[in-house]
Amino acid sequence: MSNLIAEEIIAAEPSLSDPAESCRDFESVGKGYWSRVPDTDWNDWRWQLKNRITTLEQIEALLPDLPPEEREGIRFANRKLALAITPYFFNLIDPDDPLCPVRQQVIPRIDESLTSPWEMRDPCGEDSHSPVPGIVHRYPDRILFLVTDRCAAYCRYCTRSRMVSNATGYDFHPELDRQIDYVRRHPEIRDVLLSGGDPLLLSDGKLDRLLERLHAIEHVEFLRIGTRIPVFLPQRITDRLCAVLRRYHPFFLSVHVNHPVELTAEVKAGLDRIADAGIPIGNQSVLLRNVNDNLEIMRALTHKLLRCRVRPYYLYQCDLIAGSAHLRSRIERGLEIIEGLRGHTTGYAVPQFVVDAPGGGGKIPVNPEYVVSQEPDRIVLRNYEGRTFEYPEVP
Ligand SMILES: *Cc1c(COP(=O)(O)O)cnc(C)c1O
Repeated sequence: MSNLIAEEIIAAEPSLSDPAESCRDFESVGKGYWSRVPDTDWNDWRWQLKNRITTLEQIEALLPDLPPEEREGIRFANRKLALAITPYFFNLIDPDDPLCPVRQQVIPRIDESLTSPWEMRDPCGEDSHSPVPGIVHRYPDRILFLVTDRCAAYCRYCTRSRMVSNATGYDFHPELDRQIDYVRRHPEIRDVLLSGGDPLLLSDGKLDRLLERLHAIEHVEFLRIGTRIPVFLPQRITDRLCAVLRRYHPFFLSVHVNHPVELTAEVKAGLDRIADAGIPIGNQSVLLRNVNDNLEIMRALTHKLLRCRVRPYYLYQCDLIAGSAHLRSRIERGLEIIEGLRGHTTGYAVPQFVVDAPGGGGKIPVNPEYVVSQEPDRIVLRNYEGRTFEYPEVP
């Protein structure tokens, strides 16, 4: 099987007609539909938030001939996960492409109302691993620390859609004092991952005070934030924000980019500021059907990320969140993509493919098989080209 796959991969080396090649450059999005808005407003992240697209009427005004699946999807969204798209990100939608990878991530379809029997409201079993509201403690030495239920825009496959945007009445209110107290009372916690919602929606001052309190806890060695703000709202990545974050080193940031078209000049400028503050950046992509479940697209994405000093960290199999079947790809597609990257390109460009175990088992790596056979005195391996090699084991 490996030889066959290797041949297909070699046959699929990128060419100039490759669709992924068309988004190789960091193009500026500019003001697009909002050309009459002054630059000072456009570049102000609070203006972007205030002017988000949240209603069917707004979308129909911008995208005439909206297909009924989307019109009905938008009507349904308010009962499941709110619709919100920043004007900046909305400009990335190609109105002539019904399968536009940006459109599919943020514009609801009526398929969201269909729930397959194996899909769940809380696919990673977070609520059952939550000792205090806002804390998910699943692994021995690190926790998820949720600080808000709001994001700049909402990903239609959001694993936390039960609580995020408050469309289902979950009514999440972080209790930061209790959460911080939990960290203080648990000396085994050496790594705190701030998430939500999107932590970078907090004001600079609020974020500063929160990070300061966590950083001051002796056993906390390492802080990080998971955010999609650099992609949805690059205007938020100001020098002042970076000056706050860099006070809490070692501090890492995880971003969420799924397709190379999302890496615009605006996003690159924000990522450059973060990297210049000495903050290592990782990317977490979600494997999505007809968005990025394709080797050429993923190769273009990971190469473009490295040019932004972002290390591809995880590629997630899409969680079994209710109403996400239309966006879910098969695990074997993910494995083919990893196999097509590993060895064929820079090792730093290859993310770890993981399945976050349904029900709450945590992230489980899934890898193409390179061990052909294993015996007490030798192991037979295959390389990325499908050639086999024998390695003797010490007795
Ligand atoms: C993903 C996750 C983490 C962080 O996992 P890493 O593999 O260390 O990046 C921590 N806690 C929870 C509950 C998570 O889902």
